[in-house]
Amino acid sequence: MSKFNFKDLPYDFNALEPYIDARTMEIHYTKHHRAYFDKFMAAVEGTPQADMDIIDIFKDIANQPAAIRNNGGGFFNHSLFWDVMSADGGGEPSGKLAGEINNAFGSFEKFRETFGNAAATRFGSGWAWLCLNSDGKLEVCSTANQDNPLMNLTGCKGTPLLGLDVWEHAYYLKYQNRRPEYIDAFWNVVNWDQVTKNFEDAL
Ligand code: MN
Repeated sequence: MSKFNFKDLPYDFNALEPYIDARTMEIHYTKHHRAYFDKFMAAVEGTPQADMDIIDIFKDIANQPAAIRNNGGGFFNHSLFWDVMSADGGGEPSGKLAGEINNAFGSFEKFRETFGNAAATRFGSGWAWLCLNSDGKLEVCSTANQDNPLMNLTGCKGTPLLGLDVWEHAYYLKYQNRRPEYIDAFWNVVNWDQVTKNFEDAL
């Protein structure tokens, strides 16, 4: 039994309609996410990484094979992504997270704009992130491919609280080339309870 597990999707494929369509969710979860997981399992098999926490693998990812970086990243990033969305998502965070967003960005609207710009301007495939950085401050950034802010690479660093997949496979069936429409729609399904939990765990 591997220490890594392929979790159930926490809702039905059609739960995020009309913002994210059921067909995209089904292919994304059962094909793309599954492939990252299976290839990650194959890449770590028989290596010390097979028994490591994935966060610790990321801390030394610059020295790991591309198959571990790409597929471990893909597995972790998607696992986080499913959890930060829900059918009854949307709205705004409250409490300490809301206060920290205001401190860091000026307002929730400004945060949305900053995050949306990071997602829209990521060239090619990648992710936009809201992170808690090592100074205890909230920060928005983006990463290429299946990299993430936990990896010891140049650029974006921190503990990811919210992530948005901007690979075309995440939106192309419904939105085609209109990535900004997909980004706007995303706010209707953001599970702020989970993001708040991620924030509290990261503190
Ligand atoms: Mn994806």
